[in-house]
Amino acid sequence: MYPAKFENLIAAFRRLPGVGMKTAERYAFEALNWDEETRKEVERSLQQISEIHTCRICGNLCDEDECEYCKDPNRTDHLICIVQSPKDLQALESAGVFNGKYHVLNGTINMAKGVLPSDLNIDTLIQRINENIDEVILATEPTVDGETTALYLTKLLQGKVKVTRLANGIPMGGHLDYSDARTLQRAFQGRTNAQSE
Ligand SMILES: [Zn+2]
Repeated sequence: MYPAKFENLIAAFRRLPGVGMKTAERYAFEALNWDEETRKEVERSLQQISEIHTCRICGNLCDEDECEYCKDPNRTDHLICIVQSPKDLQALESAGVFNGKYHVLNGTINMAKGVLPSDLNIDTLIQRINENIDEVILATEPTVDGETTALYLTKLLQGKVKVTRLANGIPMGGHLDYSDARTLQRAFQGRTNAQSE
């Protein structure tokens, strides 16, 4: 047995996905070699985990009340782009294809895994839809779950607001965060009215 505090460190690393006992042990030894500055930086980041939460308006990751995109006065309020994760939001931002507001679902509908619409950030989306919104763009990923979610949202929002879906530039089963900027740009520009069938 190692000293208890070192065992705790190993146990902490083991919580990460894909990290087994041997790897956690290696990480823990590595951490012992960090210089003071690095160690303090890591300690500070871990202490601040509880300060990271979701934006009260859009559901994006944020460490204040509202995220930087919701607060940005240079972005149009008339367009809302719906993404399934903060990672996808970042992918669209890096591609520079959209200058409206976002809404992050934080998941997709998956009946087999028991993920229902009520588990997603949909209630606040409905609250955001008013006469000010010209268009809602569905940018969920072209996977079975992403399509199921897009279909559900299309039915839910139809009649309330114009709903469009990204064009099929992204290959089926592909991920927005792995798509290059040009592909995302084309998918965005070629968006079409969402079909509810
Ligand atoms: Zn926000």
